[in-house]
Amino acid sequence: MKKGLSRRSFLGTAASAGAALCASAGISRAADGSARPAAAAAPRTAANPTAWPVADAREEKALLGVLRSGKWGRTSAPDGRVKEFEAVFAARMKAKHCIATSSGTTALLSSLGALNIGPGDEVILPPYTFVATFNVITANFALPVFADVDPASFQIDPAKVGAAITRTTKVIMPVHIGGTACDLDAIAELARARKISLLEDACQAPGAEFNGQPVGTRGIGGCFSFQASKNLTSGEGGAVVTNDDTFAAQVYNFHTPGNPKSAPLTGRAANYRLTEFQAALLLAQYARFDEQQDQRHANATYLSSLLGRIPGIAPARIPGTGSRSGWHLFMARYDARQFAGLPRAKFLEALARAGVPASSGYTGLNTSAHVNALAANPHYLRIYGKDTMTRWLERNRCPVNDRVVDEAFWFPQTRLLGSRSDMERIAEAIEGVRKRAGTLAAG
Ligand SMILES: *Cc1c(COP(=O)(O)O)cnc(C)c1O
Repeated sequence: MKKGLSRRSFLGTAASAGAALCASAGISRAADGSARPAAAAAPRTAANPTAWPVADAREEKALLGVLRSGKWGRTSAPDGRVKEFEAVFAARMKAKHCIATSSGTTALLSSLGALNIGPGDEVILPPYTFVATFNVITANFALPVFADVDPASFQIDPAKVGAAITRTTKVIMPVHIGGTACDLDAIAELARARKISLLEDACQAPGAEFNGQPVGTRGIGGCFSFQASKNLTSGEGGAVVTNDDTFAAQVYNFHTPGNPKSAPLTGRAANYRLTEFQAALLLAQYARFDEQQDQRHANATYLSSLLGRIPGIAPARIPGTGSRSGWHLFMARYDARQFAGLPRAKFLEALARAGVPASSGYTGLNTSAHVNALAANPHYLRIYGKDTMTRWLERNRCPVNDRVVDEAFWFPQTRLLGSRSDMERIAEAIEGVRKRAGTLAAG
């Protein structure tokens, strides 16, 4: 180890260099493996400007407060931190209700449970998303139906949603991928006209606005994630927001057993409650949220303007007018033809060598082994029949998504917490690779 470089900052640097996408731990570990106090979190040095999460004595105090209260869950603290966070988050999202959950996945499961989605129902989703969007549909033995994406925005294409609707479509579940709202006007109109529930997977999108309105309440509800990599985090956690009183009561009833609120009953429920510790952590993190979002927004806007000038680099378009991304990811497409035919993998390798690691983004969800396995699942064969499941595999084809998956590259939200000159370094590195592209392609 270099002299003068403390173990703490060494660990932070190694972690961030090693895992650009896995949010690197800011909390350092002592030699015996035990975590150091939170005050040691996230040494934001020049070598490690993007450590995540950020935490200090505020989080320490919040967690100790819950610890010493002896009230660790919402059942023992009916007016505790969970309820307080729900009020804060509902206000921020301009929603009438918020129900906090143990994860984004369980926020989605509670919402689908509240809508009583089950075998025989179809749910529309985009193929360009995290696998959890798919999993919550199959956990209910409903049929996931992919609607292809718009290559310019990476978001679900409303025209493809319209074409995917059938008599058994019960839910349209668009995703605000990267934290950018999809075209909610067009999708809300489809849902309204066909009397289908619109449920937003806003797991990456706290802070995102579509035409000036926070996401999550355009349809029946919206689901958020506070998992470790997300822009607002408690390690794990989630929330459902809604303006609908009945849906709010049903989501509440689904997420906690016993003492149901007055709402139509379905005989189905689970325990997907957030803990008081997580809520206390979220409240402490929330105190930083707006400032961090402003920084991400300023940096992302600047980076977009810099990269937009480089031939062959197309930052993802933001749908709507007056929309604002929540910037969970900075997504762009790479056109190898403008880089002397240099394949994307080599472009990313060269970028990483220049000190600017980027991710190649999602692999094709609709063509993955995990998704294809559904066609051979005995329950699905029994519920839907072999013909439907064979046709389902064909319906999964999304040619635009195939192209987007091949051309994409991303920077995670943590990169956007760097300085303005960090953004210039990214653009310079990409320009540098483009200048050398001919040589690199030949080598
Ligand atoms: C993170 C995420 C989820 C799931 O959230 P968890 O908290 O990890 O369960 C769902 N959908 C999308 C688009 C996500 O990014």
